[in-house]
Amino acid sequence: MHRVVDKISLDRLMDRDLKVSFLCPYCKSTRITLTASQTMDSWNGIDCSKCEAHILLDSVSLVVIKETLPPEDL
Ligand SMILES: [Zn+2]
Repeated sequence: MHRVVDKISLDRLMDRDLKVSFLCPYCKSTRITLTASQTMDSWNGIDCSKCEAHILLDSVSLVVIKETLPPEDL
């Protein structure tokens, strides 16, 4: 087996239906859900409904490990 390790950054997750969910880092009492389009590039984040902090994504990366068949010998 051949193993491919691929690191996928936020810009490559734009069309992958990314959703990140966490408690507000500031007040820790409201659940915030962000998608890949809510980044520093647009400042199009989300306001916490409790403390009104504006929250957006700075960077996200994933590591994908995929077993593949070895390349065929030619
Ligand atoms: Zn908050």
